[in-house]
Amino acid sequence: MRTESAPGHARHRPAPARAGRKPPARTGEVLDLLRRGVAVTTADLAATMGVARSTVTERLELLLHHGLVVPAGETGPGRGRGRPAGILAFNERAGVTLAAQVGTDGEVLVAVTDLAGEALWSSRAAFGVGEGPRALSRLLDREFATALAGAGESRDRVFGVGVGLPAGLESAAPPGAWARFPLAGHLARSYRGPVFVDRDVHFMALAEHRAAWPRAAVLLCLKAGATISCGLVVDGRVVRGATGLSGEIGHTKVRDSDAPCRCGGRGCLDATAAEAAALPAGAALRRAGRRTGDVLAAAVNLLNPDVVTVRGRLVDAGDEFLDGMRESVHGAALPASVRGLVLTSARLGADAGIKGAALTVVEHALTPEAVDGLVAPPIGV
Ligand SMILES: [Zn+2]
Repeated sequence: MRTESAPGHARHRPAPARAGRKPPARTGEVLDLLRRGVAVTTADLAATMGVARSTVTERLELLLHHGLVVPAGETGPGRGRGRPAGILAFNERAGVTLAAQVGTDGEVLVAVTDLAGEALWSSRAAFGVGEGPRALSRLLDREFATALAGAGESRDRVFGVGVGLPAGLESAAPPGAWARFPLAGHLARSYRGPVFVDRDVHFMALAEHRAAWPRAAVLLCLKAGATISCGLVVDGRVVRGATGLSGEIGHTKVRDSDAPCRCGGRGCLDATAAEAAALPAGAALRRAGRRTGDVLAAAVNLLNPDVVTVRGRLVDAGDEFLDGMRESVHGAALPASVRGLVLTSARLGADAGIKGAALTVVEHALTPEAVDGLVAPPIGV
């Protein structure tokens, strides 16, 4: 399956700075600090960046002119000495993203979001998963156009596109259908900005990290439905693996199971999950939880995560799944690793994939380098 679109992304990348020479006080850096809330006044920005206030003011004027920054009130009394200072904020309405989250059954949640990843308009539609990526592409063309109109937005305000796909979607389509149809490339022809077509769990993990656990050093976001997979964020970055397939833990063999799996193997964790999803009652949920915990324990020993969040149908069905997971993890992972570990249900709701897809777009479209390119005067002026 194609994942990240190089063509869509490349258009947004400005020429790299000469090696060894960092441009002083980049405009993009100012925006980055504002967006992350690290510094919100001219004085704070100047202090954080170690440059003169006048330099920051110059950069801010550019950002204000391009609508990427807006005034957001003043500092209250008691904050330092002297007069209240103006607070500046990233303008989350400076543009929009198009985001979609595809379900294993072919239901697609489509949204126009602001640049904070909040949906401004959303809808649901469905395609036949057996028809493969062309059918999904037709649906997205139609639904994205409807969504933009619904949100009162236009194509030229789109910063990029993110589409999250569940594990196992390929196996429902004719063999090779996903490999032959470049969905990301197709979308990149219709919209400007980076295009990401990626595993949903990568997006969900990013959203959980940014929204709920921004200080987690190693976060695993497990999705437990009819299949089990997980996304991984290390030091603030999504770890996708060499070919985007990190976190496919559902195909790890588990004890005492010989059930056939859609991958062609037998005894995979996914086969247990599918059984539990079909009949989500106490004993089946606990068994699926224990087996998932066995696999997770190996990941805990390997990665030493500080946060593991779990989402999906098996968690929603009752406490037994998480209880079973905890039993296994506590029994099989290094006690010192388990002591510092938070293992809990996910904070974000059903739209986590949408938020993560949108934030992936925004974080790539607004790197300091990209912002410098956005605010640079056109060549020849
Ligand atoms: Zn399998």
